[in-house]
Amino acid sequence: MSDFDLFKTSEEHEELREAVRSVAEDKIAPHAAEVDEKSAFPQDALDALTATDFHAAHISEDYEGMGADALATCIIIEEVARVCASSSLIPAVNKLGTMPLILGASEDVKRRYLTPVARGEAMFSYGLSEREAGSDTASMRTQATPKGDDWVLNGQKSWITNAGVSEYYTVLAVTDPEGKRGSNISAFVVHADDAGFSLGEPERKLGIKGSPTRELFFDDMLIPGDRIIGAPGEGLKIALRTLDHTRVTIGAQAVGIAQGALDHAVAYVKERKQFGKSVADFQGIQFMLADMAMKLETARQMVYVAAAKSERGDEDLPFYGAAAKCYASDAAMEITTDAVQLLGGAGYVKDFPLERMMRDAKITQIYEGTNQIQRMVMARQLLK
Ligand SMILES: Cc1cc2nc3c(=O)[nH]c(=O)nc-3n(C[C@H](O)[C@H](O)[C@H](O)COP(=O)(O)OP(=O)(O)OC[C@H]3O[C@@H](n4cnc5c(N)ncnc54)[C@H](O)[C@@H]3O)c2cc1C
Repeated sequence: MSDFDLFKTSEEHEELREAVRSVAEDKIAPHAAEVDEKSAFPQDALDALTATDFHAAHISEDYEGMGADALATCIIIEEVARVCASSSLIPAVNKLGTMPLILGASEDVKRRYLTPVARGEAMFSYGLSEREAGSDTASMRTQATPKGDDWVLNGQKSWITNAGVSEYYTVLAVTDPEGKRGSNISAFVVHADDAGFSLGEPERKLGIKGSPTRELFFDDMLIPGDRIIGAPGEGLKIALRTLDHTRVTIGAQAVGIAQGALDHAVAYVKERKQFGKSVADFQGIQFMLADMAMKLETARQMVYVAAAKSERGDEDLPFYGAAAKCYASDAAMEITTDAVQLLGGAGYVKDFPLERMMRDAKITQIYEGTNQIQRMVMARQLLK
């Protein structure tokens, strides 16, 4: 392999892109507007992604998964997000929910939970945030108290993606209230049918309306001791290492949303005529398109480099994961806003997907750590 081959995606990755794009355009895109309009879970997308093994492709072949590398997983999420951001949260959150297990769980826990997710029998969510502990995760109040070999879980989690459709949840809880901040938290697997588990009403959101976001409540829930992920006290470290990897996938989601918006905008300006010619013929429009495409390609390159670092487990992944997510999400917000502008009035109404894409892009600047928090992560690594 020459050095130059490192700067392009492999043939396998591009074949995967084509396969995902075909599923996304045929099976997911036709439902995207309705899923958004009705705030309905995209069941057609789940069915199509499960049938093609794209629903949790990151899980290794050891657990009956496809064993997709980090870049391949990004390409899947990107191509689904290009047509429907809500649906792209199926593969993205399956990765987010299971990554703590992949990074930190015993072989027994991995086998028990990764296999059903890989088979498409269950989905997995991730419960870190709480009402009073968003950016400041270490201040969480949910507690798990030891009871013999088991634990009793009490508390709540907020804004949990795919809550109610997932069977399993990674939940972080304080297990040593007197212990050192950040080292007193453990991670557990919670089942949707555990006694004492309940859900809040679905949040009414600006975007990604097809992806349910709900609170989780734990009321004296007995969690068997063999459901802990890693050792007691390791939970928050595992949860934050998870985010180093999965922020890259949010970057991929942002790239996909932005690509969808740019594709629609390019097609529209070529068709739309004003002053006797296509609006694409005006230099002011051409400069906007060039800027959008330039930002998008920069974001994509950053995401792919970060994905390679995630795959290799490079030491500077925290910087790259945060930078890729932050840059790509800011770019997606700018590109989708400009795409609405390029369609004029048509951009603002629901007959076209641009206003949905602009609303969907906003969340990528907020979840898995706001972009202010990404800058803190980057600075921490720079100043180390
Ligand atoms: C649709 C949706 C889905 C989500 N899905 C999940 C999920 O599946 N699992 C999960 O665990 N969480 C999830 N979240 C939660 C999300 O990760 C948090 O909302 C996010 O981390 C921010 O926390 P917060 O909302 O409490 O904001 P806050 O922490 O209250 O922040 C408010 C503002 O202050 C800024 N700020 C905070 N601290 C600092 C600082 N030190 N320096 C500078 N600025 C700062 C923030 O950037 C923000 O602008 C989801 C949220 C949404 C809206």
